Amino acid sequence: MPVEVVLPMLGITVERGRILKWHKTEGQKVKKGEILFEVETEKVVTEVESPATGILARVLVPEGVEVPLLTVVGVILEEAEEVLPDLGKESLGTQRSAQEPVEKKPGAPSPKSAVSWELAVLGGGPAGYAAAIRAAQRGAQVVLVERDKLGGTCLHRGCIPTKSFLSDVELLRRVRGSELLVGGQGIGLDLSRMVARKDQVVARLHKGLESLLQSLGVTVVSGTGELLDTRTLRVKANGQEEMYSAGHIIIATGSRPRGLAKVEVDGERILFSDHLAAMKAVSERMVVIGGGAIGLEWAAIMKGLGAQVTILELLPRLLAQLDEEMGRILERALEEQGIRVLTQVQIREVKPHGQEVEIGFVLNGESMNIRADQVLVAVGRKPNTEGIGVERLGLDMDGPFIRVDSSMQSSLPWLYAAGDVVGRTMLAHAAFAEASVAVENILGGSRQLDYSRVPSCVYTSPEVAWVGLTEAQAREQGYAVKVQRFPFGHNGKALAMGEPEGLVKIVAEEELGQILGVCILGTNATELLGECLVAMRLEATVEELGDLIKPHPTLSEAITEAAMAWTGRPLHLAGAHKP
Ligand SMILES: Cc1cc2nc3c(=O)[nH]c(=O)nc-3n(C[C@H](O)[C@H](O)[C@H](O)COP(=O)(O)OP(=O)(O)OC[C@H]3O[C@@H](n4cnc5c(N)ncnc54)[C@H](O)[C@@H]3O)c2cc1C
Repeated sequence: MPVEVVLPMLGITVERGRILKWHKTEGQKVKKGEILFEVETEKVVTEVESPATGILARVLVPEGVEVPLLTVVGVILEEAEEVLPDLGKESLGTQRSAQEPVEKKPGAPSPKSAVSWELAVLGGGPAGYAAAIRAAQRGAQVVLVERDKLGGTCLHRGCIPTKSFLSDVELLRRVRGSELLVGGQGIGLDLSRMVARKDQVVARLHKGLESLLQSLGVTVVSGTGELLDTRTLRVKANGQEEMYSAGHIIIATGSRPRGLAKVEVDGERILFSDHLAAMKAVSERMVVIGGGAIGLEWAAIMKGLGAQVTILELLPRLLAQLDEEMGRILERALEEQGIRVLTQVQIREVKPHGQEVEIGFVLNGESMNIRADQVLVAVGRKPNTEGIGVERLGLDMDGPFIRVDSSMQSSLPWLYAAGDVVGRTMLAHAAFAEASVAVENILGGSRQLDYSRVPSCVYTSPEVAWVGLTEAQAREQGYAVKVQRFPFGHNGKALAMGEPEGLVKIVAEEELGQILGVCILGTNATELLGECLVAMRLEATVEELGDLIKPHPTLSEAITEAAMAWTGRPLHLAGAHKP
């Protein structure tokens, strides 16, 4: 029987302890009562005895790492245990080599139910794979369970497919929009080649991810996982099941598209974004229900491919989280491209009619309907929490999402969650950051995620990216606010590129110039935001941001100019200069 080695209670007021020294290494024999490790709590060092006679099969918490008391820090296989589990043997005192295959196919010789891992991760999307990578980089033994393909929504149906398509339609837009190319208007895109290119990009990244996990010694298990308790996963695949017990588990099961009441998504004419990622034809008329990031990006793609696109949004404006002024500019830009935008629309019904779909809605109190060849339902996403055992465990929830504290820990010990399933900022880079925070805390660190530093990004044309507070939010929070802007129309590089549409908006605290938020709308906005993230991370003032010497001409000079405007001295903008 495996026996858990627990960091004991070491005083009423003591909560955590740091493992100072292991007296045995993995694979060595140990006797009950023999000193097994030393732990440091505040100023006291305590020797902890082995709870059993056997072989130290796992060191779950390495030397130097601090963990809460009662954490399982190791596992001993008792002497009577004749055969060590396969995976136990594999790792006793040895490090798995980078060349060894790590994909543990269900049905292959299985680990015994009680094999302990330092970390088990449920879900191999951005949150799950980032957690596995981070933990493995720190030397932890990690098992990652994925029921579909590593990379999750982001790689296979989200970020990457849409960016591949958006890049293609952007190319077409630039060629068609150029006055220099003769016959540019007649040029079109070959959808099958676009899809093939997207598939190649996805396949390359997928392969890279598999290799990366393999090189780090992460054990990837294909199958559907379910929590039996806070430290045990049951994984089912091909009619078989295996158990994986771990020191900690991270739930990273992600999300899927949310439907609309009484609207049946058939995958043919009424679609989710998942269906479009594998599209085979472009419909002539498309209605997009939902003016959030996913709806807008797909609207831009379909428009670029030649469809007539109408966006129907429930709220008074697109992208509710975006600064209002920037939202208006974006809406105008989309309309100028021929995308029809209707806001404050209440959908009544969406029904197939022969080869068409009829959409009934109420706008300004008036009932209306339009017909389309296809409808995209992009009204948000819901977390994948069904069937994974959260009800059985009695986990606290935030609505449909798993509730976590600022360390990404759930309401139960040993159990963490990250990514879309916690529903904070449902973006891949937030998932990466949440996963890293969870792992650091599991491995004894103490980290919290500052969501005010998590950027948002929408890859329309023009792109829009922002971080921190909008002007309205800053005022609501009681800041004395000073706002500075710089239009791309005054930026030499933007004009040379033929991309004059855009604006940098910096919201700062008036007295000291603390940067509260930045929003950039324009070509490459998502890349440009990076330097503002650095400035905010390093707590630079607006004045310091304006003090950078940029290569000329660059788009990023627009940020410097907006920051210079804070002192009243932009270089290339009339009217703002102080006497
Ligand atoms: C069209 C679209 C475009 C997007 N564009 C962007 C973008 O440009 N930038 C950005 O930052 N974000 C973007 N996103 C959001 C981004 O894709 C998600 O935020 C991100 O994928 C969340 O990662 P995750 O790991 O939490 O979940 P997911 O990516 O959903 O991964 C969860 C994984 O868990 C697996 N899983 C679920 N349940 C189980 C189970 N019981 N057992 C085993 N495995 C299980 C799933 O198969 C899946 O692989 C986009 C999303 C969409 C839909």
